[in-house]
Amino acid sequence: MLNFELTEEQKTVVETVRAFAARELAPQIAELDREKHYDPMTFVKFRELGLTGISVPEEYGGAGMDYLTLGLVCEELEYVDTSFRTILSIHLGLCGSGIYQWGTEAQKRRFLTPLARGEKLGAFGLTEPGAGSDVAGITTRAKRSGSDYLLSGQKMWISGAQQAGTFLIFAYTEPEKKHDGISAFIVDRGEAGQAFSTFTIHDKAGIWAGNVGGINLDDVRVPRENLLGEEGEGFKIAMGCLDNGRYTVAAGATGLIRACLDASVQYAKERLAFGKPIAEFQLVQDMIAQMVASYDAARLLYLKAGWLKNQGIRSSRESSLAKWFATTSADTAANHAVEIFGAYGYSDEYPVARFLRNAKGPVIYEGTRQVHKLIQAQYALGLRKDKPLRCPLPSYRPRVPVS
Ligand SMILES: Cc1cc2nc3c(=O)[nH]c(=O)nc-3n(C[C@H](O)[C@H](O)[C@H](O)COP(=O)(O)OP(=O)(O)OC[C@H]3O[C@@H](n4cnc5c(N)ncnc54)[C@H](O)[C@@H]3O)c2cc1C
Repeated sequence: MLNFELTEEQKTVVETVRAFAARELAPQIAELDREKHYDPMTFVKFRELGLTGISVPEEYGGAGMDYLTLGLVCEELEYVDTSFRTILSIHLGLCGSGIYQWGTEAQKRRFLTPLARGEKLGAFGLTEPGAGSDVAGITTRAKRSGSDYLLSGQKMWISGAQQAGTFLIFAYTEPEKKHDGISAFIVDRGEAGQAFSTFTIHDKAGIWAGNVGGINLDDVRVPRENLLGEEGEGFKIAMGCLDNGRYTVAAGATGLIRACLDASVQYAKERLAFGKPIAEFQLVQDMIAQMVASYDAARLLYLKAGWLKNQGIRSSRESSLAKWFATTSADTAANHAVEIFGAYGYSDEYPVARFLRNAKGPVIYEGTRQVHKLIQAQYALGLRKDKPLRCPLPSYRPRVPVS
């Protein structure tokens, strides 16, 4: 059975988050963006609304909703600004889901529950100054020290670096094994002490209301019970986290396409040129039609990936495809929106210049456009096949209604 209808609960969440974003986030964003200010109150508001653990089961402090709902929320948040959606991507998509998927029961209780309750922000530390796409090129090391590990190295381009309290950090335990020598660690900022420090990367090209920074690890002592999965499973864990993060990025970029479309439609009806609304010019209609098509296609792709996740079916190919298509389409839509607005699109009087600045980052992070093209070609050519995982992402288990 093929069903495109959202459940009543999903519709209610979309309406609630859309109203919340219009009331609480939209009035602030122009100023936050201009001031390049990450507002910590945004996360507090997410917590109050139950978004910080939206797709986390209730037993771990979450709202117990499904993965489709997570995607729908991301679409609504990025409709207003990419920085708002980024918070959920790093917190739940990359960090929380990784702990949910690979964590022991004790790790889930200790680290996932405070994340879901919004007591801490989660972040994901994979990229380094010298290694992004080439994950095996990282140089951060984790050396055994008694029953602990000592982590040393530097992470770069980490979203939420300055605000997060819980980090997934990827480091080599056995560098000679390359991908199979990387391990994943849960690092709690409070416990890590002064050997763990973070900094902000200033003057980035977009997502100005969000924080991106770096992490210095100077022999950070991490207890063995903070090892996520087994030693050597770090690469698989990172890729699993990215499957979930990419899904949220795809859903968010879909919201950005819709934001470009709505702004363009309204402006095209109001702006006059040569004695008529520019909406009547077919070349303007062409740009709007492309936004319509890409919005629908991007939405179908992310909903399919979310549906697979709900069933407990691996969605690496589908999440990659959804992320590649949605972010590339959002980048094109934002370019077109700026052109429809003409000179006004080139100022901050309207939001479309911000949309364009924001659209570029997601094309680069969580796998560049080129990397996703390679992934898709490899699947098509039979050069890439997914093997069963020791810890697959658990399928969605509907909550038992209270009678
Ligand atoms: C705003 C922002 C937020 C980010 N947040 C995070 C975060 O929270 N956590 C985190 O760990 N990282 C984060 N990143 C880092 C991001 O994931 C990396 O930038 C990304 O993986 C690309 O790596 P790179 O920048 O080192 O580019 P490189 O890997 O150096 O790539 C440079 C160019 O070479 C191309 N290229 C590389 N390898 C190949 C290949 N095999 N075939 C074809 N082309 C190739 C790339 O597509 C690209 O065009 C963030 C980045 C940005 C911009």
